[in-house]
Amino acid sequence: MIRIGYGFDSHSFAPNIPLKIGGVELPHHSGLAGHSDGDVLLHALTDALLGAIAAGDIGGYFPPSDPKWKGADSVTFIEEAMRQVEKAGFRVVNADATLILNAPKIGPHAFNIRARVAGLLKVDIGAVSIKAKTPEGMNLENAALAHVVVLLETRPDPEAIEREWEAMQELLV
Ligand code: MG
Repeated sequence: MIRIGYGFDSHSFAPNIPLKIGGVELPHHSGLAGHSDGDVLLHALTDALLGAIAAGDIGGYFPPSDPKWKGADSVTFIEEAMRQVEKAGFRVVNADATLILNAPKIGPHAFNIRARVAGLLKVDIGAVSIKAKTPEGMNLENAALAHVVVLLETRPDPEAIEREWEAMQELLV
């Protein structure tokens, strides 16, 4: 069985805080303000993962009202979403993301971000796509937006593989 998930997030830039996108810190004069580390890409990805298994949303697991998540590393959110995905019997096939922001340029960092996200999703780097656009005509010069889709597939059941193997052995005898 396959499932698709979609996630969206936005944060505004604020001066003199670290900019984290996809779990990677990018050199820039401003970062994304938020209750956690403001990682817009990992937040949209968390919602996409949870959405694919109809398991609610990031706010349900990590309420912004809970001081525990103040300044939290958003990798924690992805790890929890991946636990839910695995518990539901699925694994990630691929993820495709579009970032919308004026600056910095994402191109030079895309490989590092893809590698980091691929590690978190337990897939090859070739299964993670990061695209970036500037917010033309949207009056969003001070914001970063992320749209993410993920595809999940059922994880092979190790017991079923074992049973198949045993049946094959019997045929060979
Ligand atoms: Mg967010």
